[in-house]
Amino acid sequence: MNVYMQTAQEFAELWDKEHITNKFPSNVRHKDLQTYLEGLRKLGVKVEEVGRSYANREIYQIEWGKGPKRVFLWSQMHGDEPTATTALIDMFTILQKNRDNDWVKKLESELTIRAVPMVNPDGAELYVRRNLQGIDINRDAQALVTPEARLLKKLRDEWQPELGFNLHNQNELTTAGRSNKQAAISFLVVYGDAPKTENDGHLRNKRITAQMSDALRQFIPGHMARYPDGFTSTAFGDNFSAWGTPVILIETGALHGKDEMFLVKMNFVAFLTALRSHADGSNHTIDPARYFELPNNASGGLFHFIFRGANVVLRYEPSIGVADLGLNLERRRAEFPSPTKIRQVGDLAAYYGLDEYDASGFFVTGRVEPVKPGNMGELLFYKKDRKIDWTVPDLEKQYEPDAILSFGKWIKGAGVVPKKN
Ligand SMILES: [Zn+2]
Repeated sequence: MNVYMQTAQEFAELWDKEHITNKFPSNVRHKDLQTYLEGLRKLGVKVEEVGRSYANREIYQIEWGKGPKRVFLWSQMHGDEPTATTALIDMFTILQKNRDNDWVKKLESELTIRAVPMVNPDGAELYVRRNLQGIDINRDAQALVTPEARLLKKLRDEWQPELGFNLHNQNELTTAGRSNKQAAISFLVVYGDAPKTENDGHLRNKRITAQMSDALRQFIPGHMARYPDGFTSTAFGDNFSAWGTPVILIETGALHGKDEMFLVKMNFVAFLTALRSHADGSNHTIDPARYFELPNNASGGLFHFIFRGANVVLRYEPSIGVADLGLNLERRRAEFPSPTKIRQVGDLAAYYGLDEYDASGFFVTGRVEPVKPGNMGELLFYKKDRKIDWTVPDLEKQYEPDAILSFGKWIKGAGVVPKKN
């Protein structure tokens, strides 16, 4: 076991014992953030209002540490990408409560850490990507039309941090390479220009990213990847890097069977691994080329559900016969049920499902809309030996289905359609 893995285990245990956040990040509103920040203030952590959103909501900056090395982190510039906001709260709380530990003392004396959790509080309130002007703040680093982008640039320009972390969430069906493995965490060392001119900061960031992936590998082996490395002249990560603050992008995805708090813990372990490395300089012994051991992000190959070999019945028009069905859940806060949409109908032999079912023994028809791509994934399942008149108007009453899938859950007949994985 290498030293980073061992330390990461300790970080994870520390989070298990001492984290104070108590809501799934997707359920956290601006007022919840304010409650968390009040808790940090009571512990003696510096928390300041540094600006306002378009709808006049307060935007805050947390500061911790007294050291010469300046590190800046910001989260949730996309309102529906919340995981890191919660992880930052836990990180500052736990650092502040553990100042007697030698490794925390080292961080405190080497680093000054500033973080803006929830850059886009209006978007967070509505659980949407953009700000209230309908503008993607992460495409506003040059035009600066949004108050949130102007604030973010000002905070960087006035303070000139040497290391930045841009904290986001990615689609939960993103995979590590073309595989069935979700990319629970993806990283990107962000360059400041299209030709990818490399400086010492980028090399350092590659080494730190290799350490973060070493640290997380014991928890999520195979579930990490590298985010696409294209230059976007209007994005904040690229511009921060160009302005002199080389940025590491961390994108949180999802992991089937694990809840949002597990991903908060993974963020927490990644942040502390990176900060500790930057404080003690331990990344100097790492080969920056190890960053490229991470597979690339891939998308489009994974569905939330695949029903294989279904006998699809369209009821009022000629049926297509046997096909696989690929269904995905729509993104919602954890407190709301997620609607399911049919995304593909056809031969899905080349695709994976997080949950796969053998539907070959069943007729499958739509509960609300026909079984076609783009329609709702509300499905009725009937055993194939049944004789059914599909044209009756109240099908579900006249012929009781053997199983019903609604909002991604079996509301009738759980276990009737056999699972394949
Ligand atoms: Zn984002």
